[in-house]
Amino acid sequence: ERTYRIAVIPGDGIGREVVPEGLRVLEAAARKFGFRLHLDEFDFASCDYYLKHNKMLPEDWKERIGSHDAIFFGAVGWPEKVPDHISLWGSLIQFRREFDQYANLRPVRLMPGIPCPLAGRAPGDIDFFVVRENTEGEYSSIGGSIFPGTHREVVIQETIMTRIGIDRILKFAFELAQKRPRKHLTSATKSNGISITMPYWDTRVEEMAKSFPDVTWDKYHIDILAAHFVLNPDRFNVVVASNLFGDILSDLGPACTGTIGIAPSGNINPERLFPSLFEPVHGSAPDIAGRGIANPVAQIWSGAMMLDHLGETEAGAAIVRAIEQVLPHKQLRTPDMGGTANTVTAGKAIADALT
Ligand code: NAD
Ligand code: MN
Repeated sequence: ERTYRIAVIPGDGIGREVVPEGLRVLEAAARKFGFRLHLDEFDFASCDYYLKHNKMLPEDWKERIGSHDAIFFGAVGWPEKVPDHISLWGSLIQFRREFDQYANLRPVRLMPGIPCPLAGRAPGDIDFFVVRENTEGEYSSIGGSIFPGTHREVVIQETIMTRIGIDRILKFAFELAQKRPRKHLTSATKSNGISITMPYWDTRVEEMAKSFPDVTWDKYHIDILAAHFVLNPDRFNVVVASNLFGDILSDLGPACTGTIGIAPSGNINPERLFPSLFEPVHGSAPDIAGRGIANPVAQIWSGAMMLDHLGETEAGAAIVRAIEQVLPHKQLRTPDMGGTANTVTAGKAIADALT
């Protein structure tokens, strides 16, 4: 029997509420499609772990999760207990970097039944991927402060872009565009204002495009691109962006489809030298944590992406279909989607809808 070893890390806040629903649906899919999931759960990469151990991860974390087939992650962060830059840099950002998960794949899709905040849009009108560079760019630890604490204080943080780093994310995005019916790619830039790194990004896009003559492409500055997400979301098919731009676009995109509570993501190492990590786009939502009303769809859909990555493509597609079947029913939707269900009711409904 096909068996996959999954490292499960619920993390903080609603991560602990939605991960069990993700697992419920994954295990239902395993039964239905005839494979096994071997689950190992870990309590690190959470703020409670930090308060006990004064660090986010144990020394041997790479050995403990590095040989799993994939990582199923909830969310990390609890700003009242631990500053965000410590909790995030000490866990998730370490995973992304050390496991070279340079491609952050984030689908944006208007799902049936969810009230769309954009007027006149129906399912099918919004259906694209944001591909976010996940290991370099604006999220660098190079920089510092001069004269700290004085009125002359200067703080500097560098953006790092490498040819290898840009080319490999562009290749991933062009290959994805090539597989999609519209074969179109959009690049997010800001070469009019960020005058060194972004013009370089643009030249690498032009160069990479030559290897994909069947893919059409365009580019927009990030400011007007954000506007087009709202005004003309049907324009997009695959949007490739640097680390920061991709982060922003992948909250904006799902917000345009009604709620960030459904948005999934894969942090992927395409070479499969390390495990890839699947998690919702959203965070730990301290404002609603503990009330049992968090939307589990992003976590469940992330599980579908994980199965797809593991080669269980039929099971992955079946989970997405089950989500699409359940969402039109108001009593099965959580409050962020205008419904009345709680987290467990919504999760069970999706598990039951698997066919
Ligand atoms: P957030 O995504 O946690 O919450 C933003 C808003 O969306 C909140 O009002 C929240 O209630 C709502 N929301 C989010 N997910 C939801 C869901 N599944 N169902 C219903 N409503 C949902 O972002 P934030 O408030 O900026 O950050 C809170 C914490 O999470 C911080 O510590 C932050 O650093 C962390 N964070 C972690 C990740 C991650 O683990 N990948 C991502 C983003 C933020
Ligand atoms: Mn984000």
